Amino acid sequence: MTGPPVDAPLEEVVSTDPRDGRELGRYPLHSAADVAAAVTAARRAASWWSGLGYAARRSRLDAWRRLILRRVSELVELISAETGKTTADAQLEAILVVDHLRWAAAHAGKVLRRRHVRPGLLMYNHSATVDHHPLGVVGVIGPWNYPAFIPIGPIAHALAAGNTVVFKPSEYTPGVGKWLADTLGEVVGEQTVLEAVFGFGDTGAALCTSGVDKVAFTGSTSTGKRVMAACAESLTPVLLECGGKDAMLVDRDADIAAAADAAVWGGLSNAGQTCVGVERVYVHQAVAERFTELVVENAAALRTGVGRDADIGPMATREQPSIVAEHIRDALARGARAALGGPDSVRPSTVEPVVLTEVREGSLALTEETFGPVIVVNRVATMDEAVAQANACAYGLGAAVYSRARGPQIARKLRVGMVSVNSVLAFAGVPGLPFGGTGASGFGRVHGPEGLREFTRTQSITRQRVRPFLRPLSFERSPRTMDALMRLIRIVYG
Ligand code: NDP
Repeated sequence: MTGPPVDAPLEEVVSTDPRDGRELGRYPLHSAADVAAAVTAARRAASWWSGLGYAARRSRLDAWRRLILRRVSELVELISAETGKTTADAQLEAILVVDHLRWAAAHAGKVLRRRHVRPGLLMYNHSATVDHHPLGVVGVIGPWNYPAFIPIGPIAHALAAGNTVVFKPSEYTPGVGKWLADTLGEVVGEQTVLEAVFGFGDTGAALCTSGVDKVAFTGSTSTGKRVMAACAESLTPVLLECGGKDAMLVDRDADIAAAADAAVWGGLSNAGQTCVGVERVYVHQAVAERFTELVVENAAALRTGVGRDADIGPMATREQPSIVAEHIRDALARGARAALGGPDSVRPSTVEPVVLTEVREGSLALTEETFGPVIVVNRVATMDEAVAQANACAYGLGAAVYSRARGPQIARKLRVGMVSVNSVLAFAGVPGLPFGGTGASGFGRVHGPEGLREFTRTQSITRQRVRPFLRPLSFERSPRTMDALMRLIRIVYG
């Protein structure tokens, strides 16, 4: 289990390895004053960093990427050690880090450069332009489940857009946060453009009220609400990437073997602790039996444990197994069937795969984030029913659709931010695609052009090029001027 041992001194954050409880490191617990000092320093660095321009920032961020790649085994080992995830899961995370960092650095100049806009009829004598200025200092608050990949989204995009960043990693993964800040510091020696601050919820709360120019938060919906409330006080803008309850929809014409393989990987990799992991499957009744058999067969074949050869590692936090157990018990008490595993699959630190079928509406396993290796498989009579059930959920983060003929059609009916057709989680691996949710999953986007614009202040400028023939924007205008304009508007737009 990770997290602060009960006897840990309060002035430190202690990181431990969930695989064996070994202490990994101790980090200073930063107070509100420490956070304020970090933000002040970041603000000083911000004018230098934004003044460098896109090309110079790109070369520094590219150098950071190359350094990360040279030392990627360190990062992989650290991610595994602090979260308990398998080496393969940690490697995938590191690959995503590098890919998104490359995209942000390469595209910031193109996406954010000055844009000319047609001035239109009324202001024909003006030029009109849009600029995207950096905001200044961005506060990034990250979760433990993908301690490098998730924060690198806002960090890389904010930096590429010309901001500096103060980053509060989860209390469970301070080491990864420090590693990211230290490695960037090695290639950008002049000023500190990414500072990590450590602590628990209070340190994150202090970052929200520290005067940063935006907070990019990723974590649970309940904490997201607290972040938004704290930021409301000073009208600090927020980007909220919150929880999910992602559904997979499997149509009768789908490649059933591929869909079952994807459901198992999407639901169980990283021990099910993935915001866009598959938590619910709605499968057409014509193929439900075969699909469920394959899911159970594939899931039962996986090795769970703390050993290096395990497919599913331990749960990363102390609290998570009891939440998973509660969801399983609640579903069974309401009439669900356990096709694989059950309450006994939950051990103090590991959870064996669980497949639940016939889970009734209103069960926690359908409405709340389970965040463990549990897959719900419910059969539906039509894909319209599947869409209705998938959408009957407060969360709206991601989804997957398996269908040979109608994938994109079904995808467009889902009230979520991202959908993979005939695959799972693919959208997270396309750096040019905006990533984010709707409803209880939050708002705002990281990744892609939208992810870059999130960290800018949009400014519109008009410049009068020639004196106008008619002058409607002056008290010197005459009734004839306005009548002439009215006639012109009717002719052109009527
Ligand atoms: P939490 O909400 O518990 O914590 C997220 C971060 O917020 C942590 O750094 C935490 O610090 C900090 N924090 C806690 N309280 C406050 C506060 N009052 N003010 C400011 N910051 C605070 O989430 P988890 O770390 O448990 O992460 C798992 C959650 O993240 C899941 O719900 C998952 O779905 C979601 N998530 C969403 C993603 C998305 O893109 N939509 C991606 C990945 C995860 P500390 O840890 O020290 O308490």
